[in-house]
Amino acid sequence: MKAAIWYGQNNIEVKDITEPKYKEGDLLLQVICCNICGSDIRTYRHGSNSIKPGTVLGHEFVAKVIDATNCDGFSEGDLVIASQDIPCGECWYCTNGYENVCENKLEIGKDFQGAFAKKIVLPEVILKKGWVRKLDSQISIDAGSLIEPVASCLHTQKLLPPKEGDNVVIIGAGPIGCMHGELAKHAGADKVIMADLSSSRLEIAEKFNFDKYINSSKEDLVQVIREMFPFGVDRVISANPSVDAVRQAVEMVRKKGVVIAFGGFPKANYMVELDGNRIHYDEVVVIGSYAYSREECDEAMDLIRKGAISVDNYISRRFPLEAIEEAMVLATKAEVMKIQIRLD
Ligand SMILES: [Zn+2]
Ligand SMILES: [Zn+2]
Repeated sequence: MKAAIWYGQNNIEVKDITEPKYKEGDLLLQVICCNICGSDIRTYRHGSNSIKPGTVLGHEFVAKVIDATNCDGFSEGDLVIASQDIPCGECWYCTNGYENVCENKLEIGKDFQGAFAKKIVLPEVILKKGWVRKLDSQISIDAGSLIEPVASCLHTQKLLPPKEGDNVVIIGAGPIGCMHGELAKHAGADKVIMADLSSSRLEIAEKFNFDKYINSSKEDLVQVIREMFPFGVDRVISANPSVDAVRQAVEMVRKKGVVIAFGGFPKANYMVELDGNRIHYDEVVVIGSYAYSREECDEAMDLIRKGAISVDNYISRRFPLEAIEEAMVLATKAEVMKIQIRLD
């Protein structure tokens, strides 16, 4: 079968590989589509400490069940999605309700073959731990492919719930930033202000009708926000890989406000310098947010059913698997939202 194999920095090739092996209890799937995630782009461009060359990436997929022998609750023809991370369920974090930061998690597209391939097997362990979800008729294929990132963004709100009427700044107007913006509005935010260094990215994000768009390569973001909100904003979400954005976030949030570092940082530049006196005297809270729980996945599906996420605004382009290299190169540019690889 055809699969895209990642060989290292800027090196991905579509090849014929042997069909994945599976046993009774594993779920054999035919992949319909798989979106390119920010983490796939990071691996493609910068390499990875943990993913071995020769791996098939891809986890934001929707797939159809081909064989569900001995898979409780699943049958042939079901449309399914899965979480990228599969927590162990046994470590201290898993048993204390923090499975998203499991010590021994396994990952699709790292420990298991990913979904930039015609077929994928979800091993019994993933099913047994409850990380596979069936899509119902209210969730389209495109919507299904967005559940994983929406659940990650929803997790941020669960860590420190926003208040009705909050003013929120989001730094990074990519798909993740826009999902945070839509979820903030759904949770009752007053103003959502979107900032980015790229004017093309801001232009694309305009279709979400957020309250203000700021090009931080042309304007001093902290100053603009401080002019709009002299006391600072309630919440800043840094949805990008820049350490500088987190520093700016601490400068523009109000006393007792919340700064969320959502994006992972590149391995060459991950140290963040912050104003410690704002953290001490002004009780500014700085937290990270990573992955999500099973409950948050279900809640994300529910929000998508309710229309809290404008699905059609996210998928900018679709490519066949054969053109994945072109798709990856395009995905590294700020001219698109999500890119979807179609395998049907
Ligand atoms: Zn992802
Ligand atoms: Zn664990």
